[in-house]
Amino acid sequence: MIVPIVLVAMMGASNLCGQEPAAAQRAQSADSVIPVGKNQTKELMREDRFWDKKNDWWFAGVGAARTLDYFSTLNMRRRGRQEILLTNDAVDNHAAFAAIEAAGTGVSIGVWYLFHRYGHHKLERWASVVHIGLATAGSVRNYSLKTAHPKTAP
Ligand SMILES: [Zn+2]
Repeated sequence: MIVPIVLVAMMGASNLCGQEPAAAQRAQSADSVIPVGKNQTKELMREDRFWDKKNDWWFAGVGAARTLDYFSTLNMRRRGRQEILLTNDAVDNHAAFAAIEAAGTGVSIGVWYLFHRYGHHKLERWASVVHIGLATAGSVRNYSLKTAHPKTAP
């Protein structure tokens, strides 16, 4: 199973992307020439930074969960099960499927960045938790299909 992703959020994220690097560049070029530039840099350091160590671990966690999803889905396909959210063609073309999984991780980072930018740091965290949870649950489901002997309903 492929974890469905909120694609709408990506459009919003791409609109905002240009602003942050510009600010960083400005601070860098002002270095040692204008003292205000240094103050700005310090100001930025005090803030809750998006690319901090904690977030790195969350990104790694989501990447790992999606990798698990990737392999478990291929495993499921080898056993002749049907992919339900994507077409079987997309999954059987492994390069395309891997790209889709990678895109899913990228979109997640975009969504987190939006939450972060607007100060929703709790939502930022929960988005990762939910994403990892869904991807892992989907993988468990994929693997559990392997030994799924038809259970008789009570
Ligand atoms: Zn944050």
